[in-house]
This record gives sequence, structure tokens and C-alpha cells, in this order.
Amino acid sequence: MPAQILRGSEVAAALRESVVASIAQLTARGGRLPALATLMVGENPSSEAYRTSIVRTFKRIGIAHQPINLPESTTEAQLIEALVSLNNDETVTGVLTLMPLPSHLRAETILEHLSPLKDVDGITPTNAGRLHMGLPSLRPSTPQGGLELLDHFGIELDGKDVTVVGRSNVVGRPLTSLLMQRNATVTTCHRHTRDLAAHTRRGEIVCLAAGAPKLLTADMITPGTIVIDFGVNVLDDGQLVGDADFDDLQETAAAITPVPGGTGPVTALVLARNTVAAGFACLSGDLDHVDFVRLRQPVFS
Ligand code: ADP
Repeated sequence: MPAQILRGSEVAAALRESVVASIAQLTARGGRLPALATLMVGENPSSEAYRTSIVRTFKRIGIAHQPINLPESTTEAQLIEALVSLNNDETVTGVLTLMPLPSHLRAETILEHLSPLKDVDGITPTNAGRLHMGLPSLRPSTPQGGLELLDHFGIELDGKDVTVVGRSNVVGRPLTSLLMQRNATVTTCHRHTRDLAAHTRRGEIVCLAAGAPKLLTADMITPGTIVIDFGVNVLDDGQLVGDADFDDLQETAAAITPVPGGTGPVTALVLARNTVAAGFACLSGDLDHVDFVRLRQPVFS
């Protein structure tokens, strides 16, 4: 039987309504209209594709977008200066730094200079630490969106064996934490994993966040596995593909997210919700009074 295709559009539609409602709540409480700045250093086709999808989603919801492009030659000091200026810019409620940065810039050092209250991708040390401790925080939108997609399709996580491929700070690592908080037993694989297939075959759910096209093939999973693909890869011919060999997996997986059209649309909506949530955080001046933990209906107090 062919795999069920887990499309993100339905999840995104439900999220869109709740985000629009929360913008009205924010302004009713005296907050500014939410606005997202996306910061890109140099040029990267995957980042460009991600930014295009963000702009499209945000336009439909009515959240302003401010693109900021810095040259490849930007120094660490210049990038920090740009972040500090965005921290102080009251017209911007959220800031997203598009990754990867050029190799001469260390993301971790730079992110210490972004205000955690504007950190819509939840990757400052404050938000990441709070996430791993289970405290309210702005959560990385890609893994959070993945959980919401699983919930939408009624896929249970409690007690499940889940294999995550990738340990980046934006996807793999926070996904591992979030899945553990949902009582899954998680195995996290990465570049140094010796026998990737042995681990993916053990997973009842396999989550891919490696940035490697066709990394997961049918022989690497047990029939009936659910495959969640977070990969965003632009091939030489311009085609957008995930990390799964989608056609090969069709007959073996029970369910699979397509790329594009799977986790991507949900990611963009969670990012939009985070931009509104960051507006609330900026209003109250801390992360504790914004309930980022509730999944679909954020309640702002
Ligand atoms: P993303 O932003 O999609 O998470 P990154 O490039 O930041 O992508 O991180 C890629 C992650 O995937 C790293 O943790 C790396 O170790 C892992 N990875 C990449 N290729 C493989 C592979 N062939 N097998 C296992 N893990 C991989």
C-alpha cells in the first residue's frame, strides 16, 4: 500500500487562523503590529528559498517583513552591530538570522547578541537553554512545526522509538529535546554515526534534518515507519528536495511528508506565531508571561 502523504497545508490553515487572532490580541493590549526582519549574510540558495516561503506566508497573514542583506565579507563586529541595532528597533518584533552563515562567522557567538525576546527561531543560548529545561521559550519553528504536524495527523509519540538524523541547533537538537518532552525514546544520529541504517531501522518514526538529498532509502527503514522530512535541499537543476528518497520510500513507509509541501508550510506558520509571541515578549519584557508551551492555541497572559 502506498504511504499516506502527510501534507502541511491543513495544519497550516488551522495555524493561520490562530495567528491572525493573536495579532488582534497583541494590538488590543497595546503591542505593536508584529514585523519580522530576516538577516542574510552572503548568498545561499537554500536560505533564499526559505526566505521566499516566509515572505509568501507572512504576506497572507499580514505580518510585515524586512529583508536585510549583508555582504559575504561582513565581519563579526559588523554583524553584531546589525543585531544590536535590530534589538533596539521598535518597529521590528522578531529577528531571524538565515543559516548557514559564511564560515568565518561563528553563529553561537553572534547569537549571544540577539535579544532572546526577538529570537523567533529560538536559537539564542537563553531560549535554547530554556527549551532544554522545559521552561517557556521561543521554540525553533521547524521542529515545533514538525510536532504540530504529527499531532494533527494523530501520530502518538508517548513511548515511541524515534530516530532523528541531524543534531543542528535549529532542527535536530531541539527536535530531540521536544520529542523527549513528549515521552518518546529518541536516538540522535549525525555525521559520525557509524551505522545510520541500523538506527533508522529501529525508529518507528524517522525524522530527517541532515541536509543531504536521498539520504534515507527504503532499505534503511522497517516497513510501516513514519518519515518526517525537514530537509531543504536545492539541487543543481533548481529542484527543491528533502533528505528522503521520496519515490523509493513510497511503498515501504506508512506515511511520509513531501518536500515541498510537508513540514515547510507548518514551519513558516510557527515562525509567524513566534513573531507574534515575540511581540508579546517585547511588551512584557520577559519570556515567562507568554505561554509558548501550549501547542496550537497560544494563550497570552
Ligand atoms: P539543518 O539546518 O538541516 O539541521 P545542518 O547542515 O546545520 O542542517 O546540520 C546537518 C546535520 O546533519 C549535522 O548534525 C550532521 O552531523 C548531520 N548529517 C549530515 N549528513 C549526514 C549523514 N550523511 N548521516 C548522518 N548525519 C548527517
